[in-house]
Amino acid sequence: STVTPITEVSGLTKRYSDVLAIDDVSLSVQAGQIYALLGLNGAGKTTLIRMLLGMIAPTKGAARVLGADVSAGQRSAWARTGYLVEAPAAYPELTVRENLHLYARLRHLKQPHLRVEDIIERLALTPYTGRRARTLSMGNLQRLALAKALIHSPDLLILDEPVNGLDPAGVVEIRTLLTGLAREHGTTVLISSHLLAEVARLNGRIAILHQGRLLAEHDATSLDQHRRRHITVSTRD
Ligand code: ATP
Repeated sequence: STVTPITEVSGLTKRYSDVLAIDDVSLSVQAGQIYALLGLNGAGKTTLIRMLLGMIAPTKGAARVLGADVSAGQRSAWARTGYLVEAPAAYPELTVRENLHLYARLRHLKQPHLRVEDIIERLALTPYTGRRARTLSMGNLQRLALAKALIHSPDLLILDEPVNGLDPAGVVEIRTLLTGLAREHGTTVLISSHLLAEVARLNGRIAILHQGRLLAEHDATSLDQHRRRHITVSTRD
């Protein structure tokens, strides 16, 4: 039997007037996989992710997510997808708990109260539940954003640069959360980053995006010892 990929992209292209933000990209992401898009600023990561979320339409090519043709505007993947993109992640004047309740309602959860309390605990937000979102530290705001992304236990989690601006402890925490989700719940994770060392530690698949093109794909585990040592050293700078 054939396994249907969670995400399948073929010949995807996005042009903004004279900029080819995404240039003929094809890739597939399997169920339970952690798939990292690695690239410098401007490589096209955000553009690709926004097309996968159906936020923008491609110029050419196709993208299927959880069986839906998102490139043709099909919306059915939304219910099973959680996402964190470079956008305001919370209502600043609402508290942490109010933000999560609002999102639980948006996701039509049957037992919103239980789920909100559960996710508050999972994301270590218990001490901050009564705080307005605008008063949170960067790390806690990102935790809240992840809590919102995960509130409906999505099958697919899409994260655009989730560790940007976090301190080292926050980076480790998010990594642990993501690898745990993939291993224990079979959640498929698609993440973008400009940090090779960070994505290598997720032990998933790494796709290298450069000037809109997908240059190569590697399994993190197949990176040899020399490469791994080099990666470890370079993060300590
Ligand atoms: P970053 O980490 O800075 O967000 P990225 O890898 O996510 O980088 P994109 O934001 O996808 O890259 O940008 C890819 C290219 O497309 C860049 O050259 C960018 O200037 C261009 N671009 C992105 N959005 C638009 C837009 N709305 N209009 C015109 N050009 C755009």
